[in-house]
Amino acid sequence: KSGFISIIGRPNVGKSTFLNRVVGQKIAIMSDKPQTTRNKVQGVVTTNDSQMVFIDTPGINEPRHKLGDFMLKVAKNTFREVDVLLFVASAADRIGKQDRFVLEMLKGIEVPVFLVLNKLDQVHPNDLPKIIESYRNEFDFKEAIPISALQGNNIENLLGKITEYL
Ligand code: GDP
Ligand code: MG
Repeated sequence: KSGFISIIGRPNVGKSTFLNRVVGQKIAIMSDKPQTTRNKVQGVVTTNDSQMVFIDTPGINEPRHKLGDFMLKVAKNTFREVDVLLFVASAADRIGKQDRFVLEMLKGIEVPVFLVLNKLDQVHPNDLPKIIESYRNEFDFKEAIPISALQGNNIENLLGKITEYL
């Protein structure tokens, strides 16, 4: 199995930390899936039964006033070309305007979107269900997986779930 995965989310939720945690080698692989130049490969993860290519999405982190219609369109088209979208959020913060802006862009897209609730180490386990519910109220996530990119918690579980969708 192999596929493309895009990591999206507002600044400071831990996207780069997550990528650094999972990505062993930064070499692009060959694949039968078409890849456009606007998709920037950030890293490849190889497991026993799968190869996951993580790509960057241009424009998504720009504040609304800087994001023209064109960039919005480019970003949306990029979303459609991947197999799984990882929406990264911070469990340590309430869902906010910037999170909602990103989720707004995902509306109507048929690619499965996961909620990757990062910074698990910052919250009490008893509070997790409520936090996850607050995100699920805003978007129909296919999966919701809490992780700590910093401490490396539950990363294997997430990679396994991604593989199920490839
Ligand atoms: P990005 O802007 O989404 O790429 O976020 P970064 O990866 O740059 O992380 C933003 C800040 O959050 C940094 O200070 C990270 O060290 C911190 N951070 C990232 N992941 C975790 C985590 O799982 N737990 C905690 N406590 N902090 C984290
Ligand atoms: Mg970053």
